[in-house]
Amino acid sequence: MYFPFISEIATTAVSTVPETATLSQAIELMLKSEHRHIVVTGNKRFYVLDIYDILRINREHTDTNLRLDTLHLTRLPTIRKEMNILETLDYLQNDVELIAVVNKDETLYGVIAHSDILSSIDPDTLMDNYRLSDLLKRKKRNRWVDKEVITYDIFHTMEKYTHDAAIVVENGKALGIITTKDILKLLKEKKDLSLPVKTYMVTPVMTILQTCTLNEALRLMQDQHFKRIVTVDDEGYLIGFITQKELISIAYSRWTKMMHGYYKELEQKNAKLEQKSKKYEKIAATDALTGLYNRMKFMDLFLLEYSIMVQRHNALSLLVLDLDYFKKINDSYGHNTGDEVLKQISNLLLRELRNVDILCRWGGEEFVALLPSTDAGFAYEVAEKIRLSIENLVFSGLPAVTASIGVTQIDERDELHDAIERADKALYMAKVAGRNCVEKVMIETP
Ligand code: GH3
Ligand code: MG
Ligand code: MG
Repeated sequence: MYFPFISEIATTAVSTVPETATLSQAIELMLKSEHRHIVVTGNKRFYVLDIYDILRINREHTDTNLRLDTLHLTRLPTIRKEMNILETLDYLQNDVELIAVVNKDETLYGVIAHSDILSSIDPDTLMDNYRLSDLLKRKKRNRWVDKEVITYDIFHTMEKYTHDAAIVVENGKALGIITTKDILKLLKEKKDLSLPVKTYMVTPVMTILQTCTLNEALRLMQDQHFKRIVTVDDEGYLIGFITQKELISIAYSRWTKMMHGYYKELEQKNAKLEQKSKKYEKIAATDALTGLYNRMKFMDLFLLEYSIMVQRHNALSLLVLDLDYFKKINDSYGHNTGDEVLKQISNLLLRELRNVDILCRWGGEEFVALLPSTDAGFAYEVAEKIRLSIENLVFSGLPAVTASIGVTQIDERDELHDAIERADKALYMAKVAGRNCVEKVMIETP
């Protein structure tokens, strides 16, 4: 379901006059343009002069030379054009017929009326099994008039109740209709309003059966640009009419329900996505066999620890650990046994190190550990403790496994590869020294 933006549905063909203009100028514009509303523009404020105002002004013989800003016109609510249609619905619920749509700089972009919202409703959002008769509980008899009633009196009633149409009824059937649009024409053409309405009513009236669905009613309104539809029973007797606003209200409550459903669905999808992305993040950062961080993730974490070291002037040390004669284990006991040893060594390392230490499988049978707040001397002791634990680890049916470890302290001048290179050098020294031992290499002082 697509909810359009305000800018997409707003009417931009708006007749406007500045509030400094006179009433007669505004009336003239309204009659000329045949727009039922004239937007009166003030300083970042918008007011409306509508057909009901004109009728009242006519009736009260108001001085038409008055300036518009002296008239206490209805101020329009405003909405930014990049908003979503759903945000207008509350306004319309509150009996607001028109909303001013504004640009970023608060100049007028256009207006939104019921009909604009109506035309944006997808008829399929209205329940098909909902029939007009369900809606027409209250007959709007005060909008039914006899054909002999004086046109001027009808105008008066329409103004009083802000009805936008009166249906001319004869023997219970709709004979004709007269709407605010017709009022504009009659005023413009200066017709004699003391004549009965039958003179000016529009015939025939298009009607719709009360057993029709809301969906059908909405389509008809959209196609014919009607503001209301007259409904009749099977025998053609007038039942009442359904207005744009009523249809919007129904669509609105449907929308709210749908939106609620969508949000729920989205929420669930988001939660699932989050879970998945966490899972993938983990996969991307860890080594499949041991579950330790892989080299890529280690590089990220190194940068973080390095910056903390620089900021806080802490020590930071690095261990490179390589299992001794690991090839032999594979060769003698098989690759699976080799894998099992790697897993157990990983667990041992995790146990021996602190939570703040960062351990990664660098590759093959080689591990790297980063020890924050640890100088080379302390790192050496940690390495020695690890070396001993490995030596003492018992693998059933296997001789003891040993490891050689190279230690270095990270210097501010280091890049990761410099530090790795030094630790590797220390590791090589340990191998040369007979394996199962720890060696340390520090950065050369300039
Ligand atoms: P040194 O003491 O010099 O380190 O001897 P070494 O045998 O450990 O060293 P070398 O680099 O010659 O061999 C490393 C062996 O580690 C070779 C390879 O088969 C084994 N290896 C590397 N990765 C894995 C793995 O994921 N699983 C198993 N089972 N073996 C691995
Ligand atoms: Mg190796
Ligand atoms: Mg090795």
